[in-house]
Amino acid sequence: MSDSCLFCRILAGEVPATIVDETETTLAFRDIAPVSPTHVLVIPKQHVADLDEAVRVAPQITADVLARCSAIAESEGLANGYRVVINTRADGGQQVGHLHAHVLGGRPHSWPPG
Ligand code: 5GP
Ligand code: ZN
Repeated sequence: MSDSCLFCRILAGEVPATIVDETETTLAFRDIAPVSPTHVLVIPKQHVADLDEAVRVAPQITADVLARCSAIAESEGLANGYRVVINTRADGGQQVGHLHAHVLGGRPHSWPPG
């Protein structure tokens, strides 16, 4: 838990969020500014800053996060497909320094991203 981390504060219940899924190691909640009809963020309960740190210190949680992305896509009814995005540090466009995967669905997503 990092006192200054927004997503740790959501985990602690200090910042409200619409929770859609929880496991022993992960939490998923709706993005506050959705860019697609379904826009869910999946985070590990353990604070890790980004994907690289997660792979270094707790690689299992990367698998846990991705497994929940798949489960949430199913529970959200995204049978036509979906996109998972993990923005990583500055060039990746990461704004919150706690690993999170975006699950985007409910519309077609173009390629390449911006
Ligand atoms: P990033 O740019 O770091 O990959 O994504 C951060 C995401 O967190 C953004 O999509 C942003 O809308 C979302 N976000 C920022 N603040 C909050 C918040 O207080 N609650 C929720 N649910 N999402 C947030
Ligand atoms: Zn955190």
